[in-house]
Amino acid sequence: MSDIKKIPEYFGCNVFNDAAMREYLPKRVYQQLREAIDTGKELDPKIADFIAHGMKEWAIERGATHFTHWFQPLTGATAEKHDSFITAPGQEGQVMMEFSGKELVKGESDASSFPSGGLRATFEARGYTAWDCTSPAFLREDSLGVTLCIPTAFCSFGGEALDKKTPLLRSMQALNTQALRILRLFGNTTSERVVPYVGAEQEYFLIDLKNYKKRKDLVYTRRTLFGAPPAKGQELDDHYYGTIRERIGGFMHDVDRELWKLGVPAKTEHNEVAPAQHELAPIYEQVNVAADHNQITMEVMKRVAEKHGLACLLHEKPFAGVNGSGKHNNWSISTDDGINMLNPGETPHENLQFLLVLACIIKAVDDYPELLRMSAANVGNDLRLGGNEAPPAIISIFLGEQLEDVIDQLCETGAATHSKQGQTLATGVATLPDFEMDVTDRNRTSPFAFTGNKFEFRMVGASDSISSANIVLNTIVADCFREAADEIEASDDRPNAIHDVIKRFLREHRRILFNGNGYSEAWVKEAGRRGLPNLKSMVDAIPFMGAEKTVRLFERFSVYTRAELESRVEICFETYAKAINIEANAMINISGKHLIPAVIRYNSILADSLTKVREACPEADVSVQRDLLKECSALLTEARDARKRLAEVRAECAAIPVMADRARAYHDKVVPAMLALRNPIDRLEIIVDKDYWPMPSYGDMIFEV
Ligand code: ADP
Ligand code: MG
Repeated sequence: MSDIKKIPEYFGCNVFNDAAMREYLPKRVYQQLREAIDTGKELDPKIADFIAHGMKEWAIERGATHFTHWFQPLTGATAEKHDSFITAPGQEGQVMMEFSGKELVKGESDASSFPSGGLRATFEARGYTAWDCTSPAFLREDSLGVTLCIPTAFCSFGGEALDKKTPLLRSMQALNTQALRILRLFGNTTSERVVPYVGAEQEYFLIDLKNYKKRKDLVYTRRTLFGAPPAKGQELDDHYYGTIRERIGGFMHDVDRELWKLGVPAKTEHNEVAPAQHELAPIYEQVNVAADHNQITMEVMKRVAEKHGLACLLHEKPFAGVNGSGKHNNWSISTDDGINMLNPGETPHENLQFLLVLACIIKAVDDYPELLRMSAANVGNDLRLGGNEAPPAIISIFLGEQLEDVIDQLCETGAATHSKQGQTLATGVATLPDFEMDVTDRNRTSPFAFTGNKFEFRMVGASDSISSANIVLNTIVADCFREAADEIEASDDRPNAIHDVIKRFLREHRRILFNGNGYSEAWVKEAGRRGLPNLKSMVDAIPFMGAEKTVRLFERFSVYTRAELESRVEICFETYAKAINIEANAMINISGKHLIPAVIRYNSILADSLTKVREACPEADVSVQRDLLKECSALLTEARDARKRLAEVRAECAAIPVMADRARAYHDKVVPAMLALRNPIDRLEIIVDKDYWPMPSYGDMIFEV
């Protein structure tokens, strides 16, 4: 197709990428910037003006009128402040288009409306945004026109991170330093940098925009708060796909093109398990770029959906009883000269390095399962994790039979003498088959699965930023690399020390390995016996972010300061309480204004019919009307009482002053009260005449796309 041939022509055309930099920057400036990007070295502020000028010329030639520092505050979304390039309004036709290095490198914005968890006193409302030159600037085209978006970090006046990018970049540095130590142990002197790579598969739902707008619960909270299960559920017939294909295909086609223009390497698009659910997978990239690109992907999907008369739902659980949406965070670590440290390789020598890396990762996950669980916690994910369609809230690792077998051998031969161990180990490793994983040999129920040459962390919620998960992954693995390197470097018999560390890490942390069905009740019990934590809700997980062990870990690598962690704990509790508060209010509102009145209207129709039929024909059977009326009235009473109870409980919880207590109370009291209201209403939806029900049903939304 000629269309395909054109892709290279427009891929990245809206990105200030290497080609654009070469063209628009003086050679010397280009070289310095390139070096800063490639090596992570600091950029000389003196060249910022040149870069800003080149970037502005490039942007203006492509129609840009505004620029924005594009950043990721702690809300999980992205934020921006638009400025025009225009500086001197002057006379007609004499507008000056300016953009200085200062404006490029550092912005200042009123940060008081972004969460800071007390890091920034209200009188010091300023926040600073600083350019992340490793993530390229890009042009966004929308109803506002063309805007130059500059990916930035967001900090307080005192330099504390108020965003997710800053700690992510710090965690990459930590991993780089420690991973290089591991490589050097194996005689590698050529690799200069180690970088984590991530491919984030994105799940989402598409429904008709008209239906979406009629669902106030979706509009206010991005998930349905009411809704009886459809007659037909997940066991979807092929013809459903048939009818949706055309429209969805048009959407995917446009999303791909928009993303390609922005340099986002969208690769595969396909339908997911649930009806109306789909997935987009990009090609993996450096994690900070992957994180930015995932944010862009979410923005683009929402925007393109609207153009197609669709609404893109990114919530983790938009529909109860239907599969939820997540992000599969495929993570690996590679050197600047192309060595993937998670590639099992073919020679024993390389395998040994792989086994050490693997042992460190196993230890890292087992040392910090709560932190990893926390990194994927958001309000929506509470409804998804541990349901029968997403990884459980218990962290475990799936390695596949082949690798588990290798580990068994290793742990057993470990009983022999040192030299013997070396030999046995070497033989054992030498006879290893290639670690090429059989595609069918997959465990979809595992939250953390080895898939050939990468780990797939499947807990992250669909609407969340992938940054938190990768900050934790990078840092906990860096910590175990550090521990291993400390011990091995100090030994005068390094080969033996390497073996010892591998064996010890594996023996001590084998309990985290699990190959069975992670969705089963039996696993919950077994995990309990193994002492693995099962943090069912976000509220259970949040405190671990401020725990002493966590503070020590992150401070060791300067990823987070204690103050930053404490502020994040506060923000998470607050976010949780606020989100549930909004959901509770929406339920009170929707049931009071729309649903209960609808049932009352239907009841009076039933009552009318009862009297009229009786009048017209006294011997007619009116038991259908009477039974329905009785049933509806009883459920109506239940709904009224539950609504009143929810309103009371919500008000009580909202008044609790300590944020942690408030969040806990919302979880323990408001969430059950919400379910108690939903229950009678959903039962009513099934029996009330559809013409009287004021909102589209699950069936309408999921199947009529
Ligand atoms: P699947 O069989 O699960 O679809 P894919 O090979 O299609 O696996 O990859 C899924 C995701 O993992 C994609 O986003 C892909 O780019 C990413 N991925 C592949 N290899 C790596 C790697 N070495 N490191 C990180 N991500 C990777
Ligand atoms: Mg996957």
